[in-house]
Amino acid sequence: MAKAIRFSRTGGPEVLEYVDVEVGDPGPGEARVRQHAIGVNYIDNYYRTGLYPVSLPSGLGLEGAGVVEAVGEGVTHIKPGDRVAYAGGPLGGYSEARVMPAHILVHLPDNISFETAAAMMLRGLTVEYLLTRTYQVKQGETILFHAAAGGVGLIACQWARALGANLIGTVGSKEKAELAKAHGAAHVINYNTEEVVQRVLEITNGQKVPVVYDSVGKETFFKSLDCLRPRGLMVSFGNSSGAVPPFSLTELATRGSLYITRPSLMAYTSKREELEAMAGALFQMVSSGKVKIEINQKFPLADAAKAQTALESRKTTGSTILLP
Ligand code: NDP
Repeated sequence: MAKAIRFSRTGGPEVLEYVDVEVGDPGPGEARVRQHAIGVNYIDNYYRTGLYPVSLPSGLGLEGAGVVEAVGEGVTHIKPGDRVAYAGGPLGGYSEARVMPAHILVHLPDNISFETAAAMMLRGLTVEYLLTRTYQVKQGETILFHAAAGGVGLIACQWARALGANLIGTVGSKEKAELAKAHGAAHVINYNTEEVVQRVLEITNGQKVPVVYDSVGKETFFKSLDCLRPRGLMVSFGNSSGAVPPFSLTELATRGSLYITRPSLMAYTSKREELEAMAGALFQMVSSGKVKIEINQKFPLADAAKAQTALESRKTTGSTILLP
């Protein structure tokens, strides 16, 4: 048995229940992991509220780190006692222990703690693919990245600086602006008090940017398109302010033959080889000190609802984790 978070109806954080669950033994291709730290991500809110459909009752959570307790038939890349971490797979991360597909588990280097791993696997792998695979950010380029003081955002600020790029970060408060700057954002725009498109034009001397990374969604989408230079790439990768409404493709044509992608981490990590390469790059960035993982909120697993409330009310910065 283990303590875990479950929900049997969608809604606010109050639908989350802290319960005892049967963990069981791993079947073929599976592993049982005793978790030491668990990541809380904005995507967890989308599942809880029903924005992303899920069959109920359900567990929640897509990120964690811990020790392998047992492996099922056919699992050869990990063994009991190994330190591992993951991002993705089936919902159920908010638990003391879980049985899960083994192919998403990667070995955790000794120099990276469980807490750091739980705070960076989903967010850090996301930044890795956004800045190096969805679009290859080059030295000297100026890019626009929304929600720059959040979990994904603070990693992106540092990673972009390591690539030699100038990241313009948007944030919702003065404190968050300072934080993003301290983590490498070359310019910061407070989108609650400043006009984003105007500021991007000023910063880039009217040139605009070749790529926009937009996880805010509904509130920022069209302004983001306005910040792109002709043939620029719009990377719409989240919906923290709500889903982007349907729009006409003419919006892309009139702004100069823009490109658009709506990526998800799972599409980049589904091949084991790619997952290992991405995790290796992330571990390297963190081990070298170029990217520091900021865990600015920690909650006991039982208080998962409080963690989600903090995240969706924009009270958090950097990463949020749960401790079993
Ligand atoms: P964050 O820590 O970045 O939290 C979300 C932030 O979004 C808030 O802190 C807030 O910052 C900003 N925000 C803007 N408008 C709103 C609003 N109306 N309500 C709430 N927040 C708002 O979360 P994560 O680091 O976990 O994730 C960041 C984003 O990236 C999410 O949208 C997430 O879904 C997406 N994502 C997508 C992935 C993918 O592969 N597609 C993978 C991982 C994350 P501020 O106060 O500064 O405005």
